[in-house]
Amino acid sequence: MSLVHFASSKVKSLNADLSLPAKFRRLLNEYPLKEMFDKKSIAIKMHVGGHLGYTTIHPLFVRILIDALREAGGRPFITDGSGAIPGAKIRGYTEEVLGAPIVPAAGLNDNYYKVLPVGYHTLKDIQTCGEIVSADAMIVFSHGKGHGHCGYGGAIKNIAMGCVTGHSRGSLHQLIDTEFEWDEDHCAHCYLCRANCPGGAITFNKEGRFNIFFHDCRYCMHCVTSCPENAIKINTEGIRWFQVGMAKATETILNTFEPSRLLYITALMNITPLCDCWGYSTPAIVPDIGIMASTDMVALEQASLDSIKVENFLPGSLPEPLALREEGTHLLEKIHGKDPYLQIETAAEIGLGSREYTIKEVD
Ligand code: SF4
Ligand code: SF4
Repeated sequence: MSLVHFASSKVKSLNADLSLPAKFRRLLNEYPLKEMFDKKSIAIKMHVGGHLGYTTIHPLFVRILIDALREAGGRPFITDGSGAIPGAKIRGYTEEVLGAPIVPAAGLNDNYYKVLPVGYHTLKDIQTCGEIVSADAMIVFSHGKGHGHCGYGGAIKNIAMGCVTGHSRGSLHQLIDTEFEWDEDHCAHCYLCRANCPGGAITFNKEGRFNIFFHDCRYCMHCVTSCPENAIKINTEGIRWFQVGMAKATETILNTFEPSRLLYITALMNITPLCDCWGYSTPAIVPDIGIMASTDMVALEQASLDSIKVENFLPGSLPEPLALREEGTHLLEKIHGKDPYLQIETAAEIGLGSREYTIKEVD
């Protein structure tokens, strides 16, 4: 049973000391930061978002974390994918505001990396970002939200997709993107598949060739069922391959650190249906929950997902063509048609942590 610390975004009374930033500082005090990070270089892996997005982690929380790490004798720096860093300053991520340098994880040209083996399906290896590999310690500071490819984007996604180069991110995506067949000779171009696709995932190019954008695909099989010519086949294993691939890439990356130098923190605020990489924000789908932290990544992911409940869904928060479906149990599965627990299940199976947890709320 792993321990997950929780600072709720609810404020009991009108008192600044009972608000989330103050509770977040007390949450950090629950960890032996000096023992973990004194004299260590600490990569704080975030997703700094892009373009018009405004729902990434507020800089105030990043500053609180950095101040706590400096007080503990650590040498923190913020890092994210090389393409994301140059535009981060318009969202308030600057050294002046945060109190620590902001460094592209694989250098300015996304070419500072170390190749590490994964050996899963088509994912033989990953180009792991140099600033991650060379750091002494890592804090995985994630924004919990929905994700079109895997249902949920939290710590596993922050590590697997964010600690590798753009090339390896593409290789991870290919685990899901390559597994459909379209029989051109039998296609009558009636477009019933496209008309019956609830995700708007099907397109035909100028030459009339069919394609599926799997980010938006919900594996409902409407296209397969509605095709009068039996011209489409989809391998539903793709979603599992992607989620398992992410968990295995995460393992490879985490293995570059001593376990005692890792801390995972997830901000469950502005929980949008889609990832911050879209470059704009849409409304939150549930009310703010707060911040969770653990030294067990799997327990943190499980607790975070468990806290995003169907009954707390905020009607009107989904932009078209997103919609809540009957099928599925978790709220994010009802939106994306993908079981968000798969990645966590695999992470637990390969020994990255426990799905069993207890919550300790920080007042
Ligand atoms: S399986 Fe469903 S969501 Fe995916 S492309 Fe076919 S109709 Fe669209
Ligand atoms: S439903 Fe079948 S026949 Fe019609 S356009 Fe789609 S793939 Fe072609």
